[in-house]
Amino acid sequence: MTGARAADPALCPKCSSPVADDPRFTSWCPACEWNLDPTPAPAPAGSARERRRAEHRDRKEAAARRTVRARVERVYTATAAGRSAVRDPAWLGAAVLAGAVHLTTLALAAGALVLLIAAPTWPLRVLGLFAALLVCALRPRLGRLPRDSALLRRGDAPALFALTDRVVQALGGRPVDTVLVTREFNARFGRIGLRRRRVLWLGLPLWAVLTPGERLAMLGHETGHQVNADSRRGLWLRSALAALDEWEELTRPALYRPSFGTFVELAAAALLQLLMRPFNLAARALLDLLDRLTLRSGQAAEYRADRLAADLAGREAAIGLLHTLMLRQTVTTSLQRMRADHARRPAGRTGAPAPTAGPWQELAARTAAVPPLERERLLRLSAREFGTVDSSHPPTHLRLAMLGSRPPTPARLRPAAAEWAAIDAELAPAARRIAADLELGG
Ligand SMILES: [Zn+2]
Ligand SMILES: [Zn+2]
Repeated sequence: MTGARAADPALCPKCSSPVADDPRFTSWCPACEWNLDPTPAPAPAGSARERRRAEHRDRKEAAARRTVRARVERVYTATAAGRSAVRDPAWLGAAVLAGAVHLTTLALAAGALVLLIAAPTWPLRVLGLFAALLVCALRPRLGRLPRDSALLRRGDAPALFALTDRVVQALGGRPVDTVLVTREFNARFGRIGLRRRRVLWLGLPLWAVLTPGERLAMLGHETGHQVNADSRRGLWLRSALAALDEWEELTRPALYRPSFGTFVELAAAALLQLLMRPFNLAARALLDLLDRLTLRSGQAAEYRADRLAADLAGREAAIGLLHTLMLRQTVTTSLQRMRADHARRPAGRTGAPAPTAGPWQELAARTAAVPPLERERLLRLSAREFGTVDSSHPPTHLRLAMLGSRPPTPARLRPAAAEWAAIDAELAPAARRIAADLELGG
């Protein structure tokens, strides 16, 4: 099926319609969706028993996907109809559950303290030490700013901060304290440290390929997370999720499966695995429950952030941003090709003084040249894969549909070309460093 070719490579082997046949991109059929996803299906397992197991697993996964899909579609319908309560009862349930997780950690901490200080025997004190280590792993993390040079404060990038100030002012949020320029194809907003500083992570590969309007929409969506009432981003829920993740990892039976040992050791390990299993199952069930309870309010909050972006930068720019976000794999491939080209160029030497923003302009040009049919393929793939995309955001095709269903809005902010140029100049040192790190030359 995949890889199969008709006698005429320009025609679909399934329905004989013309296919998208650009040698740089996946060849696929827009009429019957032949080869929409070119990743080969996994090879069937060896023995009949393994095959049955694989089939059983596939069926279970497909059923789970259908359930997620139905839930995600319900949230979409409710939000589109204007019925997306900021605080629904499910959210309250999640907050209570998170409280129970925190209480458990607290109780463990108290127990550890009592055992360490007042236990009459050594074994009990050792138990106290174990409990203390466990609490250490479960404690809420506030996050820390990396000691990285790509960290920009107000004084380092006055034009960028002036723009983010205007954005958060327009949205009714608080100013960003720090911008972290990263090498990822994404952007996000969060609060870290004891002082809960507001940090904007700005992925340069994404920033480089966005148009000015899309950049504005991106700033609007990310800083909009301050005011879109996304409960999942609060410390209360996030730290409970992190603690449950830790529980799940520490109680995985596979952790206690030695490959060799004496009979007594193996028997002890088997007993330990048996003891851990209920804890592991409970942690997984709780994680799943929290995910279900927060899915509605979390995804509704994402739609709200998209709407804020559209109000700020105009609907078309917000739609353009989502289309570009779907090009993650394309951009990754472009970066790999550019790295290979650079390695082949004899004069190219990493760390050499670089002309301004050369590789990033090349990346932008390559991305702008992605043909409409390839963009269409990615959009249809997003619709087909649905629940398998990361669960923090609704599937992109639904976000696009939501924006498309709203009347067109003009941009509320229109930064002048000189402002964008000033921001580019401020980002240039970080851009050069990241280009060198990615071995793109400069
Ligand atoms: Zn076809
Ligand atoms: Zn978001």
